[in-house]
Amino acid sequence: MANYNRRDFSKLILLGGIGYTVWSCANDAKQQKGTSSEKEIEKEEVPTMPELLPENIKLYQKADAEYQDLAIRFNKRIQQAPTFIAQCFSTQGVVDAIKFANSKDLKVVVKSGGHSFEGFSSTNDGLVVDVSSMKKMQWNPDHSLTVETGCILKELYNELLPKQRILPSGSCATVGIAGLTLGGGYGFFSRKYGLTCDSLEAITLVDGKGNIHHESGTSAILKACKGGGNGNFGVVTKMKFRTYQAPIFFQAYRCKAYKLTTDRAKKLLETWFTYTKKLPNTAFAAFVLNGKTLTVLITNYADDNKGVLEMYNALKEISDKATIGSKRPLARALKTFYGVQTPLYFKNACAGLYKDFAEIEGCLDDVISKVISTRGLIYQVNTLGGNINSASSEKRSVFPHRSYPYLSELQSYWDKPSQEASRLEAFQTVQDRFYKHGIRAHYRNYPDINFKDFETSYYGKYLPELKKIKQQLDPENRIQHPQSISV
Ligand SMILES: Cc1cc2nc3c(=O)[nH]c(=O)nc-3n(C[C@H](O)[C@H](O)[C@H](O)COP(=O)(O)OP(=O)(O)OC[C@H]3O[C@@H](n4cnc5c(N)ncnc54)[C@H](O)[C@@H]3O)c2cc1C
Repeated sequence: MANYNRRDFSKLILLGGIGYTVWSCANDAKQQKGTSSEKEIEKEEVPTMPELLPENIKLYQKADAEYQDLAIRFNKRIQQAPTFIAQCFSTQGVVDAIKFANSKDLKVVVKSGGHSFEGFSSTNDGLVVDVSSMKKMQWNPDHSLTVETGCILKELYNELLPKQRILPSGSCATVGIAGLTLGGGYGFFSRKYGLTCDSLEAITLVDGKGNIHHESGTSAILKACKGGGNGNFGVVTKMKFRTYQAPIFFQAYRCKAYKLTTDRAKKLLETWFTYTKKLPNTAFAAFVLNGKTLTVLITNYADDNKGVLEMYNALKEISDKATIGSKRPLARALKTFYGVQTPLYFKNACAGLYKDFAEIEGCLDDVISKVISTRGLIYQVNTLGGNINSASSEKRSVFPHRSYPYLSELQSYWDKPSQEASRLEAFQTVQDRFYKHGIRAHYRNYPDINFKDFETSYYGKYLPELKKIKQQLDPENRIQHPQSISV
């Protein structure tokens, strides 16, 4: 595993920079295989079920070589060893996997891209329904795209961008489109085109009993999967998305400030909040405080850049360095934000959705002083708002946080397991401070195992509706993870 210095981490957080190498990927896989194979592994007899056709499903246990590769997740902090991994190749394979789990009374977790912050796509004693090999894509005459749910973001962009089309989604190359969309999904294009789930037009889902559902239009199940579908009541195997004309260029503006004191960082954050209100919907901004170093990123992909320049100039005045990148072709620019593509040790989580600066001002002295005095702790605030806050999207989804224009996250990355305890302690201190201050709204895709009221924090007023869907599709609670919706 490479050593990442502070600069590398800030690039990672700004979703860019650290390149992918085949060597480091293979090396990581080998390291993780070594760990598991040290354990005493007994192979249970897998019942030979004639209906389990290898073109639909392959079932693996710990002693199988394929199991070791399929067990790898992006977060190396969380190592789990499921009893079975069902590698599925079709919707029928998923049906078979669920029926097999039912016959053996195993709990089921679902895995697509494997990027869950808290390891919710694996388990220690149940069965993983792994759809990551299901990668078919189909273009439709109306410019919509149907994908199987094993696709990751870079595969989608490789398909979309040459056709001059985009989907508003995240930037990290290896994140799964399934997990991202089912919890909402946001990125550079969301203030103009909405959350990723707002472009979801139809799904195929296998429920906890093994029944297949094809859902579109005003279906309550489709609605529940737009913000509330992560490993809660079914396995989504296909998604159909509306796509949009891609912009021609993409431009990034950056301001940096070093050796910050709490007061100066707070002033910079207040200025950041003030000027984000003037940004056009084509712009996105992030405030990234990594220890004592601040990076502000502003991006835009339209010629209207008045608000962007006002923000850049105001921050430039009080920063140490400021640069305006050139207008780059979209596909090339997006690749620079692909981020790290091999597993890491980390803890990331939502640190709250906010309405404005005033909402957090009262706890910022404590939060910022902890961040600037703790090596490797990163506090980031991102813009939402714009067309995410659309009444028609609100009606068709269960994403409860549309009226919050700001989403924050806390992050920490490390190289060795020995660094974990102190990092987690500092992390929790900041989370506790936000909780004490009354911050409760959290993004489902940035979960924290320590959130106290996680169901209401993630789903707000939509929780009763989601519980009804859970009751309908999975009354035995077959599909579950530590923060799934309870029956
Ligand atoms: C490096 C990194 C960058 C990120 N960048 C962004 C970003 O820019 N924007 C953003 O919005 N989010 C971002 N995220 C968060 C991301 O959206 C979530 O981690 C997401 O849940 C990952 O989905 P996955 O399929 O890769 O993960 P998985 O670990 O496979 O799954 C995540 C969750 O979704 C469930 N799930 C997965 N597939 C299915 C399925 N087919 N049917 C039902 N449930 C399923 C799992 O059970 C689990 O609970 C990022 C995460 C990381 C680690």
